[in-house]
Amino acid sequence: MQNSFPLLPEAVNEPVKGYTPDSPEKKEVLDTYRKLYNQTIHVPLYIGDEKIETTATGEMRPPHDHQHLLGTYSMADQTHVEKAIASALAAREQWGKLSFEERATIFLRAAELIAGPYRAKINAATMLAQSKNIHQAEIDAACEFIDFLRFNVQFAEEIYGEQPQSGDGVWNRLSYRPLEGFVYAVSPFNFTAIAGNLGAAPALMGNTVVWKPSDHQVFSAQVIMEIFEEAGLPKGVINMVMGDPEMITDTVLASPDFAGIHFTGSTFVFKEIWKKIGENIHRYKTYPRIVGETGGKDFIIAHPSATSNEVATGILRGAFEFQGQKCSAASRVYLPASKAEEILDQVVAGIKSMKMGSPENFENFITSVIHQGAFDRLKSAIEQVKKDPDTTILCGGNYDETKGYFVEPTVVITKNPHSDTMVRELFGPLVTVYVYQDNAFAETLKLVDQTSDYALTGAVFAKDRYVVNQALIALENSAGNFYINDKPTGAVVGQQPFGGARASGTNDKAGSKLNLLRWVSARLIKEPLVTPTDYRYPFLGE
Ligand code: NAD
Repeated sequence: MQNSFPLLPEAVNEPVKGYTPDSPEKKEVLDTYRKLYNQTIHVPLYIGDEKIETTATGEMRPPHDHQHLLGTYSMADQTHVEKAIASALAAREQWGKLSFEERATIFLRAAELIAGPYRAKINAATMLAQSKNIHQAEIDAACEFIDFLRFNVQFAEEIYGEQPQSGDGVWNRLSYRPLEGFVYAVSPFNFTAIAGNLGAAPALMGNTVVWKPSDHQVFSAQVIMEIFEEAGLPKGVINMVMGDPEMITDTVLASPDFAGIHFTGSTFVFKEIWKKIGENIHRYKTYPRIVGETGGKDFIIAHPSATSNEVATGILRGAFEFQGQKCSAASRVYLPASKAEEILDQVVAGIKSMKMGSPENFENFITSVIHQGAFDRLKSAIEQVKKDPDTTILCGGNYDETKGYFVEPTVVITKNPHSDTMVRELFGPLVTVYVYQDNAFAETLKLVDQTSDYALTGAVFAKDRYVVNQALIALENSAGNFYINDKPTGAVVGQQPFGGARASGTNDKAGSKLNLLRWVSARLIKEPLVTPTDYRYPFLGE
């Protein structure tokens, strides 16, 4: 019986390991990578206490080595999805009543399992499934995931501690109930940490979940389930189903017990899901919570007072790490004419020094893009750029899908600030640069604000503080995460809560208290300590 207020371990960010040439962590992760590469696995559906293998299956292949089969995964039909919903609802009975300390222990345990015994496995699986180099895998699958789990426990405690005042002779309490029903988590391919957190955050707050991972992340998703299981997460709290995304989503949204969606992915898909929720609204027992973090067309604007090599580094890291497949990746850049050549020379020199290939070779900064669809999208954008009289390719522009989906880091220069690659989210290693006249900084800020539907991340580089302030004001609504003299990527849980507005999402800031608040429904409990026994108020006595 819980009859104390225990102090939680303080949340600290997981230190990023270096994976230097002779380090033990490098050897361990490469050994694990090769072991996973050389075996063929099957990933079942995780529904309640069952691991279901279906006859319909999908294949898992490394994007940088698409001829190689890593294994297969089961694909759900409608009855499996209905079973997953029933299992989530059944598990909620006990899970929703479990004390916070018990729930927290499970997720804190999961964090320590990732930090220790599972670190190499979850990193190696992410290198294979999503083609991340070791640094990108480490900051995502290990560190960010651990941080989500540790900090969310701390944020949950803060939420539970927020209580109303009590007047004379009255005690007021707020209880933060889990939502009535189940939560649907839909995750993207690009972050193992996000995939884990989309289910874990609502579950920590007492909800149960049906989770649909991306088809292109199942290989590392399965490691997440393994870790949750070992951490002691009761069966049915998070149910993982793969398969046709529309069928799964339609089945979930048809349930009267659907209580919320925790989505990360592209804008179009999220808007379609929102529309379907609207169409089904009369079915639901409660108003569903709709939380979605979506696309971006993230900018860097440099002022003439900026330092050139800082801007160049911001572009190189911001646009090309993980092949530009971060929602926060810089993909449109505005440079002042007086500095453009100097900055771009350094960008080109940087790109020429980048090696591209398999993540198994630690010299490779650039690996492949995620799948054929992404490769084709980038290839056609590059071909269109080659034909457009307003645009030229400064460097890159080649691609090769023979072994893996490789696209060179590409810099496009445009004379038209509204050209296709300045506006459309391409989600790949392609950045477009528009050079403005130094005396047109204010107009260029307007361009930055009005060019795209998105408002996820953005950066201003300037040494002049009046200019920084001018940009902060002019771009107030252009980015949910705004960076000064830094690349627009790499948000750290507990330090830079992440999310954007406009077409970039509901801005519920993953990795913060704001997000967790969406997964609870507060109940106020008022109790007079001595209950009145006479209806008459004093004013009635003449
Ligand atoms: P995606 O939209 O293709 O897929 C996301 C999820 O939605 C996957 O699980 C997918 O299977 C599912 N899905 C696809 N079509 C669906 C449909 N018709 N109905 C229901 N579900 C469907 O995105 P992706 O390629 O996996 O990820 C890249 C996108 O995610 C980019 O747009 C990126 O900006 C965005 N993203 C945003 C953030 C953020 O925090 N804002 C973080 C990561 C990724």
